[in-house]
Amino acid sequence: MLQQILKALQSTHTQLVAVSKTHTPTEILKLYEQGQRDFGENKAQELISKYDALPKDIRWHMIGHLQTNKVKYIAPFVHLIHSVDSFDVLKEIDKQAKKYNRIIDCLLQFKIAQEDTKYGFDVETAESMLQSAGFQELKNIEIVGVMGMATFTENEDQVRSEFKRLKEIFDIIQAKYFSSQITFKEISMGMSDDYQIAIEEGSTMVRIGTLLFGARHYTI
Ligand SMILES: *Cc1c(COP(=O)(O)O)cnc(C)c1O
Repeated sequence: MLQQILKALQSTHTQLVAVSKTHTPTEILKLYEQGQRDFGENKAQELISKYDALPKDIRWHMIGHLQTNKVKYIAPFVHLIHSVDSFDVLKEIDKQAKKYNRIIDCLLQFKIAQEDTKYGFDVETAESMLQSAGFQELKNIEIVGVMGMATFTENEDQVRSEFKRLKEIFDIIQAKYFSSQITFKEISMGMSDDYQIAIEEGSTMVRIGTLLFGARHYTI
């Protein structure tokens, strides 16, 4: 399955983040041995225990809502935080990154779905943050793009239009705030059920769990 997915991503140079939440280190190692190095988790605690248990050349992606008080645990090693959804959490990431003398790459998560439960900025709030003096002071974070999750629905047209919207948001934010920064280039969108649509709509990074690992075991 890994090779099939990689083949589908190849022509568009889309990166694969293998979402390993609830799966064991042994299952992760199976993909690692096939060459996969980018893995994503949605809980800080699980991310830390897997980081401890697994090879140190794995690039760990935080893809789930991040509480401010958990940032310090993942700051030493996290590769990319996809789920920045407030200025407070970004400020804390900056503070912790500074302690470890790092610059942590971050994506701004936007709410594109029709569901109440999804975290994320709206464009107005993100723009006022990007324009604020407080944001300008953050030196140990780098915003490298945007992330979003489509509504959980069978309706492909809806999913496609939500991904189009995220691409539009990316273009606006890039033009207004990051036009001089080539590092602002990532659009993290697409999961097992909708990654093909996401690629067609300009995804640079898909986050796939179930297709790679099978159904999640929630006993972990
Ligand atoms: C779990 C999760 C995924 C992967 O979902 P699948 O449907 O199993 O591919 C992707 N993104 C986020 C933010 C997730 O929490």
